[in-house]
Amino acid sequence: MITLHALTKIFPGGVHALDDIHLTIADGEFFALLGPSGCGKTTLLRTIAGLETPTRGTVHIDDRNVTDLPPGQRDVAMVFQDYAIFPHMDVTANIAYPLRIKKIPRAERATKAAGVAARLSLTDLLHRRPAELSGGQQQRVALARAIACHPTAFLFDEPLSNLDARLRLEARTFLKRLQRELAVTTVFVTHDQAEALALADRIAVMSDGRMIQVATPAEIFHRPATTFVASFIGSTPMNLLPARATPAALHVAGATLPLPGPLHSGDNLTYGVRPEYMTLSPTERPDAFPGVISVLENLGTHTLVTLETPTGPHIQLVVPEGEEPPPGTPASATPRRALLYRDDTLLTTL
Ligand code: ATP
Repeated sequence: MITLHALTKIFPGGVHALDDIHLTIADGEFFALLGPSGCGKTTLLRTIAGLETPTRGTVHIDDRNVTDLPPGQRDVAMVFQDYAIFPHMDVTANIAYPLRIKKIPRAERATKAAGVAARLSLTDLLHRRPAELSGGQQQRVALARAIACHPTAFLFDEPLSNLDARLRLEARTFLKRLQRELAVTTVFVTHDQAEALALADRIAVMSDGRMIQVATPAEIFHRPATTFVASFIGSTPMNLLPARATPAALHVAGATLPLPGPLHSGDNLTYGVRPEYMTLSPTERPDAFPGVISVLENLGTHTLVTLETPTGPHIQLVVPEGEEPPPGTPASATPRRALLYRDDTLLTTL
């Protein structure tokens, strides 16, 4: 279990890379840190690892306060995006390196390294050096080395970012299976929301050194707590449309929708609807966004349709491939599932 209390890191120059973070990561949990560049993900991981000293606050691993302990005494293994495996050592020596540091006898080291290598399908490559391995194989060696020291936690900083799209997908599935088998607490930094959704038990979405939302992937996807989280999550971004309340209805992009509760005309409202949760129809309806199809983008099994509405905003929605009307066609989009934000904070689901 990793517990962060009031964790704050202010770099010289005044950058608040971490701003009063409180978090408990459960034993065996796969926890993803997600957020835009510069939001503090790497700093948080490095602070847990002991590579960065917090300005304030504490880090506990299980019941131990490790805030002032050097990295070597924290019993965590960190894998960085550039793997940092030793070029002059073969695969066995690389995997066995942490065991050598722990002064484990040579024969035992070799047996353990071979065991971990087998688990990661590296057995045929034990005598190769990193230069003779593919990117994906190098990454597996780095993982094997992290596993070999039986840490209490894995800390991964974008470990898949150097892989091409196909390998990355393979590595993702592999990593998830491995983490389940080993049941080791894992903190995983990524700026790829699809990766976080696919891998994590819980995700923290960060911005400017703060955790904006900490929740399960389903919760983050279906109930993003703020418009920032909403705009960050989803392979096609959520439509975020200005909305206006009158005593009788909610008015959004030419549609007249039922009021979800008592709202005021002065409220700063945003209506959020994912492209996947709208139905396109050729006829106008009062509860649908009216418009004209302007752009079609092929997503393979689906088509991303852009609808220009008369009131201004573009609306994007996804329809099954082959069901998209041609550009220039009038159409309307009925929301099936939506969210309402007041002052950029989630008010209710619709
Ligand atoms: P990325 O996705 O680009 O790696 P990140 O979310 O991991 O970004 P961090 O690397 O943690 O972000 O950086 C958080 C903030 O702290 C940034 O504004 C960064 O410029 C700043 N920062 C990081 N390291 C230092 C440092 N050693 N000195 C001063 N500022 C730093």
